[in-house]
Order: sequence, then structure tokens, then C-alpha cells
Amino acid sequence: MTFTSHPEFDQHEQVIFCQDEDAGLHAIIAVHNTNLGPAAGGCRMWDYASEEDALTDALRLSKAMSYKNAMAGLPLGGGKSVIIGDPKSDKSQALFEAFGNFIQELEGRYYVAEDVGICVEDIETVGYTTDYVFGLADGFGDPSPVTAQGCFNSLKAAVKYRFGDDSLEGLRVAIQGVGHVGYHYCKLLTEAGAEVIVADINVAATARVVKDFGVMVVAPQTIYGQAVDVFAPCALGGILNEDTIPQLKAGIICGAANNQLLRVEHGHQLHNAGILYLPDYVVNAGGMLGVAGDILDDYTAKDVQQRVNGLYDTTLDIIEMAVEEILPPFVIANKQARAKIGQMQPVH
Ligand code: NAD
Repeated sequence: MTFTSHPEFDQHEQVIFCQDEDAGLHAIIAVHNTNLGPAAGGCRMWDYASEEDALTDALRLSKAMSYKNAMAGLPLGGGKSVIIGDPKSDKSQALFEAFGNFIQELEGRYYVAEDVGICVEDIETVGYTTDYVFGLADGFGDPSPVTAQGCFNSLKAAVKYRFGDDSLEGLRVAIQGVGHVGYHYCKLLTEAGAEVIVADINVAATARVVKDFGVMVVAPQTIYGQAVDVFAPCALGGILNEDTIPQLKAGIICGAANNQLLRVEHGHQLHNAGILYLPDYVVNAGGMLGVAGDILDDYTAKDVQQRVNGLYDTTLDIIEMAVEEILPPFVIANKQARAKIGQMQPVH
């Protein structure tokens, strides 16, 4: 398959199609940019309908990692990998070891961690055949609570901008997805006095947050139209689109999910509707900040805390610059990210 003509191709440095029939491996590794340092990003395992869909995901996700790492001030580039297969039934030691062999061949140009469908144990198995893994249990630990903390800090900045005070007391927030990150976000928000409504397709996940935080649950398809101040996407990407945006009543969007905008035009649609959409790769950088120490030398837990706290100022700066330049915040963030990685071609 040619990838340079793919609509999501964005001067990616390297795209590798990994095939090992014996191990049942069919994967794609996308290295978007390494100007700032080795590419780092998770591996997703998903039962994609086609290789084309998997490539689309790998190209989009790896680019977002370049932007995320650049905006978080990390000396890391952007990469992502996808394994085509059902994470419930297609995992095996042979598959992960074969995948590790392909990563090892890149000689440190790409470091891999867990993402949707892949857990820490899977990455440990990948690590049998490659040195270039991060996010392991014996490293900096589970990134999800730090990701939630970063979203929380960015939300406070947006609330400060919108309401003149960053208290979240009485703020109404609808969270889509209360898995690893959504659970911790829910905790921080309820502790801060926010009123939280949640939806998840996994009944066990909603039962847990009801029990722990006493939040209200609604049906998944109704989460967009809730009468809230904030919509927090913490499930999958592509959920801000022509079907969902007209349903939104929230004035702010701040959540952890990667690639929330289905397409760039949806970012403009939100802006035109007066909805403050905070760029996902800025607000969800806490996870990467939390585990970067597995790759970088001289990076301590104190660095993690300082940098995650810094997401408040980063977010506020982006919003203020957007207002000054009369542009959506995501356009400002894209421009800044591209400037940092030295890729200056026009952005939308
Ligand atoms: P997770 O799989 O633990 O949680 C996602 C939750 O969303 C699950 O409970 C799932 O049942 C639910 N869900 C799926 N489809 C849904 C739907 N249509 N409606 C409602 N709920 C739905 O994943 P996570 O680790 O919490 O990550 C959440 C998102 O944040 C992902 O997009 C991930 O890529 C992104 N992210 C995570 C981290 C991290 O530190 N874990 C860091 C950065 C970005």
C-alpha cells in the first residue's frame, strides 16, 4: 500500500508495515517526526475493518504524538503503532515478540508503550525482543491518574478564562467514558465540588463511579446533549463531528481522548458555535509527562508534577492567544507545535 498519497500523510518520516505470518502479526508503525528526539507513543490493538483504516489511525495518532510531546516541552518526537487484530482473542506471546523484533530494527527511533487494547503486560512481552519500551510497571507507573490531573488543570484554566475564577464548585461536567482516565477525572472533579454526569458502554465502569463518587449515569447516546458546562470526552476519538456537535450544550470541551475531532472542519464548527474546545493533545499530555522518565535521563517525579501543573498556564496561554488572533485554540496549538518541531508548512 502506498502511504504518501494517503489524506492523513503529513511528511511522516517512516511508516513500516510489519507482517509475520507465523506469529499472526499484522501491524503498522508510524514515525511522524524525530526532530526533537526519538519518537514515543503507544501501540493500539484494534479489530480494524481494513488495513486502510489501521493506516489512517497510525498516521493521525503518530502526528498527534509529535504535537503532544512538543507542546509538553519534552525532547521526544511522535510515533504510534497499531496491531490489527482483536485484543480479546488474537494476543499471543509470539505475536508480541515478533512485534518487538520490528521495533528493535528501528534502533531507538521509536519507543512503544501501551494504548487502547494493549496493557502493561503486553508491553512487557514486547520488551522480550526490544529495548525500546516504556510505561512498564517497574518504571514511572500507571499514567492514567496523571493524565486526569492534566485534564483537570487545563479545565481550571479554561474556567478561569470563561468565568474569571478557576473554582469548579457547582460546575456541571458530562464525562464520556469512565475507564482508567475518566475514573480519576471523575474523582478530581467531584472532590472539587463539580456536579458530574457520566456515560459508559461498560456497566461495571459506571457502577464503580456511582459507588465511589455518587455521580449520575445517563445512556451513552444521550451524553452529548446533557445540559452541562463542560463535555469531557474520555473514550474514543472522532466523537466531535457533524452528528454530535449540534447536540452539545456545553460551552467547554476538555477531555483525555486522543483525536477527538473527526476532521479539522469540526474544530472550526465548534469555534463558530462559541464552544471552547481545548486541543486534546495539550490537555491529555499528563500521561506522557508521567512516563517520559522511562526514556529520558535526569527526569524525576518532581519534573512530572511541575510539568503537569504547567498545563494550566499552557492552556491559558493558548486560549488568550486564540482570542487575540481571533482563531480557534486548536489552530494556535497546531501552529505552536509545528513551530517547535520545525515543520512550518501551513496548518488549518
Ligand atoms: P479505557 O479503555 O480505560 O477507558 C475508556 C472507556 O470508554 C471504557 O470504560 C469504555 O467502556 C468507554 N467507552 C468506549 N466507547 C464508549 C462510548 N461510545 N460511550 C461511552 N463510553 C465508551 O481508556 P483510558 O486509558 O481511560 O483512555 C481514554 C482515552 O484517553 C483514550 O482515547 C486514550 O487514547 C486517551 N488517553 C489516555 C491516556 C492514559 O494515560 N491512559 C493518556 C492520553 C490519552
